[in-house]
Amino acid sequence: RPAMGSQAHHQLHVIFFPFMAQGHLIPTIDMAKLFASKGSKVTILTTSYFTPFLSKKIENSAQIDIFNIRVPAAEVGLPEGIDSAHAAGTPEMTEKFFKACGKLGPQLDQILERHRPVCLVADMFFPWATDVAAKYGIPTLLFHGTCYFALCGSTSVFLHEPHKRVSSDLEPFILPNFPDQVEFTASRVPHFMRHDDSTELTKLFKALKEVEFKSYGVLVNSFYELEPAYADHYRKVLGRKAWNIGPLFLYNKGSNSDEHECLKWLDSKKPNSVVYVSFGSMANFDDEQLKEIATGLEASGQQFVWVVKKEKKEGVKEEWLPEGFEERIKGKGLIIRGWAPQVPILEHEAVGGFVTHCGWNSTQESVCAGVPMVTWPIAAEQFYNEKLVTQILRVGVEVGAKKWKRLVGDFVKRDAIERAVSRVMGGEEAEEMRSRVKRLAEMARSAVKEGGSSVLDLNALFDDLRSAHYSSYENLH
Ligand code: UDP
Repeated sequence: RPAMGSQAHHQLHVIFFPFMAQGHLIPTIDMAKLFASKGSKVTILTTSYFTPFLSKKIENSAQIDIFNIRVPAAEVGLPEGIDSAHAAGTPEMTEKFFKACGKLGPQLDQILERHRPVCLVADMFFPWATDVAAKYGIPTLLFHGTCYFALCGSTSVFLHEPHKRVSSDLEPFILPNFPDQVEFTASRVPHFMRHDDSTELTKLFKALKEVEFKSYGVLVNSFYELEPAYADHYRKVLGRKAWNIGPLFLYNKGSNSDEHECLKWLDSKKPNSVVYVSFGSMANFDDEQLKEIATGLEASGQQFVWVVKKEKKEGVKEEWLPEGFEERIKGKGLIIRGWAPQVPILEHEAVGGFVTHCGWNSTQESVCAGVPMVTWPIAAEQFYNEKLVTQILRVGVEVGAKKWKRLVGDFVKRDAIERAVSRVMGGEEAEEMRSRVKRLAEMARSAVKEGGSSVLDLNALFDDLRSAHYSSYENLH
């Protein structure tokens, strides 16, 4: 091993290569800061669309660099300049976007050849990156951005294909080789796993499952105490090497300096008296569904903060807004257009429930804020996350979405919205869920403290990286 003095000159360098979507970039930024705090140099590869957002978040940290890559959109028939997943606004365009991402190999190759990091942290959507890194003897860690439960759930469906042995989409089956008896249906399984066609995502998903064994291991943004049976199952039964190092956003949380008007509005409300409604960065509900949400929320009689992604166009009537809605909800409900400060909102004591699409970041943020959920999964792995929340952790109730439908979601009626919101906001059941989720929130905080389960896993990972680093150093000298 090199003498202590020379170690400083051989700082670990880790390159992160997240998928170009907020839900993947946000936890990557937290990981990058965490790795930098352990003394390593970090580089994040992303497109110019995300550079301003990223620069703001990393606040000129000397240890974190950003390298720009360019998605070859035109090569797959997308308009030039589409360089974030949400800019590809339809399922057809999303498919093409994934295809374009599959062509990023040469750019990654050049960067790795030049910089030779000690390891590459590659997004699940870039399974080919493991082979590119292997060319240079660089180990790859995979990042799926989800929990152990969903990783185990999708592996169960992938290996055993229970959805192919039912007579209808809605006939329930039990997830095979799974720690708990969890009911699922074919309708909840992602399209790209249900059909043996050769869409980009079908191919990608197969490649992803294979690469889990080729890569060095998997980083999981979750904590052991949240889902111990699944952390164990993933490692011991499914045989993957994994480190749980989350909740990532808890490590870097400064004091809340957000001045958004909705936080002031929340200051005027009683504890647990407002429901927060938001569906992440990708979902794209149609007018009919938005109107149904408006009506359901109003009927529930609850106060709410609702994030609507649809832009308001000057002089254009908004079809989804029920007649006189904004007038009637004044003082009771707040609609936020665009990007909301989600974590401070969830942590505000006035917020007592969260209607969520069960994106893993949102789900974990809700758990850490001690807020029970109304689960409304749309696509991706969100239907697994819903089961974790409602059945295993029992900190949420299902709104009743049953069908996986990328971006647009399964239609949910106003009565179902009203009922689920009322259940989570008041009464004995809500109190029980609230006290359970508050206990989990405390466990999350302990996991990221000195000696906590996630900190121990992180230290173990760094020990491995350091020894990989030294052995490659010794090989060179
Ligand atoms: N988010 C936010 N404000 C918004 C919408 C989303 O801060 O208006 C954040 C949210 O806190 C979470 C992430 O964006 O960290 C969304 O990730 P998630 O996995 O929940 O869903 P996705 O957007 O990937 O579907």
